[in-house]
Amino acid sequence: TDTPAKIDHSSETVCPFCSVGCRVNLNIANDRVVYAEGADGPANHGRLCVKGRFGFDYLRHPDRLTVPLIRRDDAPKDPSHNLHGADILKLFRPATWDEALDRAATGFRELRDSLGGDSLAVLGSAKGSNEDAYILQKAARTAFRTAHIDHCTRLCSSVPPLAEATGFSAVTIPIEQIAFADVALMVGSNPDVNHPVGASVIKNAVRHGTKLILVDPYQQSLSRLATHYLQLSPGTDVALLSAMTRVVTSEGLYDADFVRQRLEGFDELLERIEPYTPDVAAAVCGVSAETIVQAARLFAKASAAMCFWGMGASQHVHGADNIRAVIAFALVCGQVGRPGAGLHPLRGQNNVQGSCDAGLGPSYLPGYRPIVEEQRALFEGLWGTSLPEGPGLSTIEIMNAARARRVKGLYVVGGNPSMANPDLAATREALAKLDHLVVQDIFPTETAAFADVILPAAALAERSGTVTNTDRIVQLVEPVLPPPGQAREDWTITSSIAERLGVSSLGHTHESIFDEMASVVPVLNGLSWSKLKAERHVRYPIHPAEAMTDVSSGFDAGLQDSLFAEAFPCGKARISPLHGLQPIEPPDAEFPLILVTGRVREHWHTGSMTRRADVLDALAPEALVHVNSADFDRLGLSAEQMVSVETRRGVISARPVADEKLQAGVIWMAMSFVESAVNELTINKLDNYTRVPEYKFCSARIVSA
Ligand code: SF4
Repeated sequence: TDTPAKIDHSSETVCPFCSVGCRVNLNIANDRVVYAEGADGPANHGRLCVKGRFGFDYLRHPDRLTVPLIRRDDAPKDPSHNLHGADILKLFRPATWDEALDRAATGFRELRDSLGGDSLAVLGSAKGSNEDAYILQKAARTAFRTAHIDHCTRLCSSVPPLAEATGFSAVTIPIEQIAFADVALMVGSNPDVNHPVGASVIKNAVRHGTKLILVDPYQQSLSRLATHYLQLSPGTDVALLSAMTRVVTSEGLYDADFVRQRLEGFDELLERIEPYTPDVAAAVCGVSAETIVQAARLFAKASAAMCFWGMGASQHVHGADNIRAVIAFALVCGQVGRPGAGLHPLRGQNNVQGSCDAGLGPSYLPGYRPIVEEQRALFEGLWGTSLPEGPGLSTIEIMNAARARRVKGLYVVGGNPSMANPDLAATREALAKLDHLVVQDIFPTETAAFADVILPAAALAERSGTVTNTDRIVQLVEPVLPPPGQAREDWTITSSIAERLGVSSLGHTHESIFDEMASVVPVLNGLSWSKLKAERHVRYPIHPAEAMTDVSSGFDAGLQDSLFAEAFPCGKARISPLHGLQPIEPPDAEFPLILVTGRVREHWHTGSMTRRADVLDALAPEALVHVNSADFDRLGLSAEQMVSVETRRGVISARPVADEKLQAGVIWMAMSFVESAVNELTINKLDNYTRVPEYKFCSARIVSA
């Protein structure tokens, strides 16, 4: 047995594995994390989940990138190559920072100067800090001179329909307010797996009397606590929620005053939902008409009710309509703007809120300012240069443009599209066709295998900065460990490339960058680095009445927790028309099953960090294909024997497991395993409005090996 290490020091940071934003105390001996404890943070109050407690081996993992790398002249870029880990490093040679930065910048400069900034694209990550995100979008727009800037939030975004409806791009109410809710409606979210500490708050509320209505095709663990569990067929959310809305409108249970005074689009909504009687919806969704009616009545009669939703709702070609249907139901019932009443999209990555606030997207400038003349002029004045016209391309559209050779240079910071994107063969083809690819990361990711230059970055626990959680809380972090080898903070690397592209002074210090961002992001107005230094964390908006004066109005001073008691930032809330869209690829005789993808509690997204944590990988070491128990028997499967999982895009191998919580005809896989990368199978089709891909529905088959 090992002697327990003597702890050299302990310091706090924020867990990097989900948007709950738990504060964690890392105990260090000999430059390594020995163990992690929950700290008294605003979101976790000492609690941690399994990832937060056991996920920190990655910080000193031998695979960490420690020096800049340049691709060897004889290394092929072959899209059929699906390389992982150390095999990727064989394609590269070490370089000095100056050589690597010169090479990185030269490739971009030649393309920009010969073909224009439109030939370049930039992909960031919601894993970085607010400062990283702000500097990256600023570099893209000023130095790369491209509007094609996006990040991984695009793959899971559940907020655009909320912004469309209310004019606000964050939760209207934090998770903890569920303690004041009589009823909570949860649609397409499995927080017990994806936001475990947030789920513990929800479970506590349910134990103290909050009634839970759960809508999910998968009979997840929260179903045991639900007053009503609505196990709908995958992809039928619009029909179900339309029927629930029709129940409350036809029975006079809706909030007529709220609808009259604060809502637009009600009459058109009534027309759209008219066909969805409970009986019609029951036939479509597989949920009994009686349950639909009971759940609708329960929610509408609550004195305060909250709505949560997640990627089960958003990651569809009709994801925007799924979420619009949730929001419409809540608004018609007047369930917003009171303690325990509001809208909460459970966001995914640790800084998804902050990276969006910072402007790391193709459709808006920092602070969600539309890309129109007046707003462009504001930033042109601030940054001293003209900006490209937008909007630009989104994440998947950038890859499609690379395949078509319209985008030829790509800078990837912290993302791993070669695992995360749908239809990975198409993504590898796009990456292989690029003239110039620079990847900046902490590990040699599958995307880095196609890079011309790899730049080693510092992890969140190794740097200063701010991150913003799903509850709108901005937290300050400071380094717990130094970065390994020559690794540097992302924003400093980005600034060095921008300088070589002719734009200096993107930012000098964390403080100056955050303060510049706070000056142009209305919800951050009144917040400063020095305030965060003093208070460690602050929930925005801190001066609600003033915060949105230039782009909107309607905050209620002193009511930061439950916003919009009197008015929305856009004035009246807007209900958008709903469409009952069909799945893009329904099952058929050749591919008779429905493949749904998701995550497991032990791993985070593409697994580049958590698969390198010993305890987590021991707990969940391989991809499993979950099969409905009856289907499992019918297909003659055995957990001892690997199977092929096949779609029209590809084939992977995985171990089958019988799962009685799945509906018949549905199979499920997690996305975090490179050995069985389920995104080889998913479909490259996007929601028209959010441009989020379809990850939750494609036809598939299982073939015994
Ligand atoms: Fe980390 Fe999220 Fe778990 Fe908290 S709930 S410890 S932030 S993964």
